[in-house]
Amino acid sequence: MSDSNRCAGLEGHPHARSARDNEPPRSRYSACLHHNGAVPAGSVAPTLHPRVTTNRVAVIGGGPAGLMAAEVARAAGAEVDLYDRLASAGRKFLIAGKGGLNLTHSEPFDAFVARFGARRAEVGRWLAQFGADAVRDWARGLGVETFVGTSGRVFPVDLKAAPLLRGWVRRLRASGIAFHMQHRWLGWNDAGALRFAHPAGEREVCADAVVLALGGGSWPVLGSDAAWLPVLRERGVDVAPLVPANCGFDIAWSEHFAARHAGDPVKSVLIEWRGSDGSRVRQQGEFVITASGVEGSLIYALSAPLRDAIASSGTAQILLDLAPGRDAARLAADLAQPQGSRSTSEHWRRHAGIEGVKAGLLYEVLSKTQVRDAACVARTIKALPLTLLRPRPIDEAISSAGGVRFEALGADLMLKKLPGVFCAGEMIDWEAPTGGYLLTACLASGRIAGAAAAKLQVTLAAG
Ligand SMILES: Cc1cc2nc3c(=O)[nH]c(=O)nc-3n(C[C@H](O)[C@H](O)[C@H](O)COP(=O)(O)OP(=O)(O)OC[C@H]3O[C@@H](n4cnc5c(N)ncnc54)[C@H](O)[C@@H]3O)c2cc1C
Repeated sequence: MSDSNRCAGLEGHPHARSARDNEPPRSRYSACLHHNGAVPAGSVAPTLHPRVTTNRVAVIGGGPAGLMAAEVARAAGAEVDLYDRLASAGRKFLIAGKGGLNLTHSEPFDAFVARFGARRAEVGRWLAQFGADAVRDWARGLGVETFVGTSGRVFPVDLKAAPLLRGWVRRLRASGIAFHMQHRWLGWNDAGALRFAHPAGEREVCADAVVLALGGGSWPVLGSDAAWLPVLRERGVDVAPLVPANCGFDIAWSEHFAARHAGDPVKSVLIEWRGSDGSRVRQQGEFVITASGVEGSLIYALSAPLRDAIASSGTAQILLDLAPGRDAARLAADLAQPQGSRSTSEHWRRHAGIEGVKAGLLYEVLSKTQVRDAACVARTIKALPLTLLRPRPIDEAISSAGGVRFEALGADLMLKKLPGVFCAGEMIDWEAPTGGYLLTACLASGRIAGAAAAKLQVTLAAG
């Protein structure tokens, strides 16, 4: 029997499952939601056939959002196929574990939700169903205990992502989810079947519901290259342009400063930024000097307003307080003491505790005359101006903002323009700082989309 005959729904529902990587997708026996089933590549659209009972969900994207969607859909009784363009799932999740996997955050719910800024209401609804405590319970269910760090961030006890990911994928396979790696989703064919590029050739696949969990635009080498964006736009889905989030910025350092201080951490300092609308952000922490500018946790925390300010005004100026614990007047008095035969650097070190990269920053912004002016030096220590020229490119960013707009989605994360197609994770238009918020929201949205995709099948099959 040919594939197209099978698509007519004449043979019933195949329950036999295999979980081998790289296996070709199995033939479809059911009608598809938007079309009539699997068709050989290049064939014409088949005619309509009666629908048979089926609940087959295709999850495309094997990051945390997709894996969670697959888990929940399978638990709800769906037959689940998971596709990813890379040879293994969760590559970005694994890299996230390199510096210590920050799974979630322990702060109270309201504070947690506020991290999602303009999208706090929508993301808050996901998090009400699967928040920080649920993430910790879920990790415990995979045999991974977590702890709360001094900053309130939550990590696995061994800080690693690999054991968690390994255990998770093992459990998903054991539950019957079929993994199809090296399947790059290309969009839909004219008949509405999903198109995949595979090393062995193009494949076309039917599913009753589809969860897209394709990630944002950062670190494309880890899989999320945003090639989905024009595909969805072409289908009329409203997608906001992807922009870097949790990113570094370029600064026009002198050659001398960049050569001497690239890689140096600057801690602990306070950054102040004032928006043109009168808003004022002050945050303490640390960051790192790079050859082309600045990066690191404190910069990432402020990166959204700084990025937006650059987009609207061309540049953004921040003020650095290099000695947040010290009173400005006292600092000025201390620096006004006679320098004697000591070098300027030694004078600053003794009387202001300023040395190394912090002294380098002062030399970078002060003129030779100003360096000798104690009052000016004291003022600059408390408010050193740095002009940020542009965000670093999106492929260097920790995450991206932009993506499928909430207005294009129902509360169950189904695309209004493409019934039966759901979205989850970073490909949706929200952003948050680092601190475990990103993974938590990806997991939570995966649960919503996976549950809704599985439920949709039950409803249709019953109807
Ligand atoms: C260096 C780094 C460190 C991070 N650390 C943390 C942290 O500690 N805590 C935290 O909360 N967040 C962290 N993040 C962010 C977090 O990893 C992401 O927000 C999260 O992985 C996004 O999940 P996702 O499932 O939406 O997308 P992704 O994890 O990007 O997964 C998308 C998947 O879709 C696949 N895919 C894409 N296009 C196609 C296609 N056309 N066909 C088939 N498959 C496709 C990709 O191969 C990929 O596997 C970090 C990110 C980076 C880069």
